[in-house]
Amino acid sequence: MSPLPQKSGILAPIVAPQTGSAPAPGASTPDPLAAILDVLLRGKRFLVCSHARPDGDAVGSMLALGMAIEQMGKGVDLVTADRVPLQYRQLPGADTIHTMLRVPGSYDAAILLECDSLERTRLRGLEELFLVNIDHHITGLEFAQLNWIDRSAASVGEMVYQLARAAGVAITPQMAQCLYTTILTDTGGFCYGNVRASTFALARDLVQAGADPIAIAQEVYFSAPASKLLLMGAALRRLKREGRLAWLWVTHQDMQRTCATEEDCEGIVNVALGMAGVDAVVFLRELPDGDIRLSLRSKGRLNVAAIAVRLGGGGHQNAAGCTLHGPPPRALKEILAELRGAMANLKGKRSH
Ligand code: 5GP
Ligand code: MN
Repeated sequence: MSPLPQKSGILAPIVAPQTGSAPAPGASTPDPLAAILDVLLRGKRFLVCSHARPDGDAVGSMLALGMAIEQMGKGVDLVTADRVPLQYRQLPGADTIHTMLRVPGSYDAAILLECDSLERTRLRGLEELFLVNIDHHITGLEFAQLNWIDRSAASVGEMVYQLARAAGVAITPQMAQCLYTTILTDTGGFCYGNVRASTFALARDLVQAGADPIAIAQEVYFSAPASKLLLMGAALRRLKREGRLAWLWVTHQDMQRTCATEEDCEGIVNVALGMAGVDAVVFLRELPDGDIRLSLRSKGRLNVAAIAVRLGGGGHQNAAGCTLHGPPPRALKEILAELRGAMANLKGKRSH
């Protein structure tokens, strides 16, 4: 990836694609993949970003897209607001992702992966750039000049794979490693509702292209720091259950006592969802500023993304998140009321 910082691009700053007039933000494009390809072919220098607190799909798809753009002979910078979590730092090129809060310089386009808004990146300086939005969340929004939202894709990595193939880029072993990671993590190890036969076909292609599924699983699932397990212990001690609903939480004090980072919170919610007879779980984490981060998970038809959107967040049908104001008992009361309502609603529909 090209070194930072670099204030002036080769082209005039902030160049929209020269395919006629640039579409207004929010506009739908009939063939977004072709339009994005056109932007990549015409430009010289690109910015690739994803959301704050990047997950496996964010990191893996940024890296793979960066490699594809470089293969096309173009310059690319990869930027996120938060550092790459420990379990993804072994991915090829992970050390080329810059962590900063303001994007540097000018680019022919900024490609935002997995975001429903500029705010979700927590990066400043994007407003002036030509924006390309590639996303697969059901709550995805057409906020950019060019929007490609494929809600059936298992991961944004799957979309990056399609884009790379359409660009005639060879899928190198390094790209395959990154893209396989996006599929593995966004399907929760091939467990969630977004898994299709085509997901396995893609995983197979990626392994054939050089991804090492054993090494990736080792990094993602079997390399947790002790702090994560200690924090999980604290959360599980507080596990509560009410019929098909369960909840658990950690305080800021728990985080300090166990020396946990926010990365250590990932996955705690899924452990509770593993309980037989539980259909929905919420994990709450008290932030240092008193706000509360929520991770919502469900099995089956309960749409937690709809709840998250109502509370200012977003996500997928079975995995979503948002931030609420504290204190913790108030946030818990608010989310439990939402979840109880949604579950009763679903039950009512079933009995008709
Ligand atoms: P997690 O619980 O792992 O933080 O997030 C689960 C899913 O919900 C992810 O796909 C994530 O992108 C989405 N999500 C979590 N928090 C937010 C949020 O505050 N806003 C939006 N739009 N999506 C979120
Ligand atoms: Mn994703």
